[in-house]
Amino acid sequence: MDKILVLKGIEKILESPQHIAITVHTNPDGDAIGSALALYHFLRKFNHQVKIIAPNQFPDFLAWLPGAEDILIFEQDAKACRTVLEEASLLFCLDFNALSRSGALQDDLKKLEIPRLLIDHHREPETESFVYCYSDTSVSSTAELIYELIAYYDFEKYADNAIAQALFTGIMTDTGSFSHSINRPETFEITAKLIRSGLDAVRVHQLVYDTFSESRLRLLGHAISNCMLVFDEYATAIIQLSREDLQKYNFQIGDTEGVVNYPLSMKKINMAVLVTEKKDTIRFSFRSKGGFSVHELAKEHFNGGGHKNASGGSMKTDLKAAVSKLISVLPNYREDLLNSI
Ligand code: 5GP
Ligand code: MN
Repeated sequence: MDKILVLKGIEKILESPQHIAITVHTNPDGDAIGSALALYHFLRKFNHQVKIIAPNQFPDFLAWLPGAEDILIFEQDAKACRTVLEEASLLFCLDFNALSRSGALQDDLKKLEIPRLLIDHHREPETESFVYCYSDTSVSSTAELIYELIAYYDFEKYADNAIAQALFTGIMTDTGSFSHSINRPETFEITAKLIRSGLDAVRVHQLVYDTFSESRLRLLGHAISNCMLVFDEYATAIIQLSREDLQKYNFQIGDTEGVVNYPLSMKKINMAVLVTEKKDTIRFSFRSKGGFSVHELAKEHFNGGGHKNASGGSMKTDLKAAVSKLISVLPNYREDLLNSI
């Protein structure tokens, strides 16, 4: 459906006061939390009750965002989250394309009989689960789409510092500090609007990126020095992190964020994969340069997906078997990997 028709549909629903629940994907990142908070602050300016529910804890480097202290975490307080969902008349799903991406929350969300609205930029949205899908895979981040929603009403009128900081966090983190997904001028036009509204972009960058613990930085060093396999013949580098590696460096949620990007800084490496051993599953983070689609690879072999150049996936197996599986599929993609850029 045409984006403007979706905005008109959402506007119609929002004409009457609603009890709104906003939710995001599991392992929420800067775009998920930034988008949710920007929408939260915007909707609260009208006559709505608004709550944000995240399936699990978000990284500490997002905790400074205004309103982050009000976010309910399902894994920590299922009862409070269920009360919000029971009272809700409307659900916004942000930065994910299918209800199964909402982790521990998915069964509760699937049961809900209230209208579900999707605002997202991932490929192949599960349209049948939502009354409206405000979906655009060409934008850098869901935050850009939240900006568009606010701009449909009047950005200058409704923007405040909390909204600008949240939107900038989403755009900045999903573009890797403006290093990828930045070929659309609108990304910069929106960013310029945020700065004109009074945003201190340097401060936000520092709060998100210059607040590492010592152990997080040392984990990064360990990952690159000791845990990286380089396959020049497939233009691919793989970093594998075991639970022991994570424990040794006192892993906290968010500590491996960004690690997967480093191998791509090597010449002739067109795909980087981070394979992490979690409690009862193996997580994959895929990144690529150029035309090679990690979305297809993740979807085909690793029960995942996302975007062309950034995707994720998972496998219920051990770390060694997961890495072997990954290495075993590389020959199928050799030509595409070598010729990606
Ligand atoms: P990350 O590697 O940062 O976890 O995820 C990269 C991108 O892929 C993000 O946009 C994320 O939402 C998406 N993604 C991560 N894991 C999955 C997954 O298991 N399934 C799908 N469909 N998308 C994923
Ligand atoms: Mn995103």
